[in-house]
Amino acid sequence: MSTPADAAARGLRVTDLTVVYPGAQEPAVDSVSLAVRRGQTIALLGPSGCGKSTLLAGIVGITAPDSGTVAFDGEDVTHVPIHRRGFGLVFQDGQLFPHRTVAGNIAFGLEMARVPAAERETRVSELLELVGLTKYRDQPVANLSGGERQRVALARSLAPRPRLLLLDEPLSSLDAELRSRLAGEMRDILARTGTTAILVTHDPTEAAAIASEVHRMEAGRILTRD
Ligand code: ADP
Ligand code: MG
Repeated sequence: MSTPADAAARGLRVTDLTVVYPGAQEPAVDSVSLAVRRGQTIALLGPSGCGKSTLLAGIVGITAPDSGTVAFDGEDVTHVPIHRRGFGLVFQDGQLFPHRTVAGNIAFGLEMARVPAAERETRVSELLELVGLTKYRDQPVANLSGGERQRVALARSLAPRPRLLLLDEPLSSLDAELRSRLAGEMRDILARTGTTAILVTHDPTEAAAIASEVHRMEAGRILTRD
């Protein structure tokens, strides 16, 4: 096991992060501390409403925390704008751009980062290959199944090579059989790309299938380590 100093030096370190929604009695995220080493995937497992999405929003920068810090590789990014953190997020329902093709969706973050067209093409092809969707390259995403859509969402978020990927119940909208197959694929893809990731889910099987370490969350807090 790494020491906190190692983790702070290479990877994500969240310290005493607290988020209180206006008017709420209790914090949605209550003094959460956690570390993720570079290349590691951890899972946070907890019931609906326990603060999983709020914690991810606090880490990625969508929601400003009331207190606490987020650091990556020892650099405090708590007040760094979202687009400069180099973090990616995958949602439960993918949130794909409905009027773009599969390739167009995967290229999105690269366009935002003004990656030149030729380089973008190469990267999109790599990602299509990685998630096994090469033959759907020019299809509108509306034609895809739920599992294929989540593969596109994963490819889109990986394309700009995020230094941290946050996965918010990425398989929860899929049926059980597909969920278990995609969980295995997702684990392989994260490992092959050396991605540092946090998965949040209410599904213990999914957590165990994807992550090397599972922490339970309840009422805004991280409880134990399995
Ligand atoms: P989870 O993702 O684990 O289901 P959430 O982070 O979505 O949990 O929610 C944690 C708590 O914060 C819940 O009590 C929820 O009702 C509340 N909450 C979530 N989003 C908001 C919001 N935008 N405004 C106020 N309360 C919210
Ligand atoms: Mg949620």
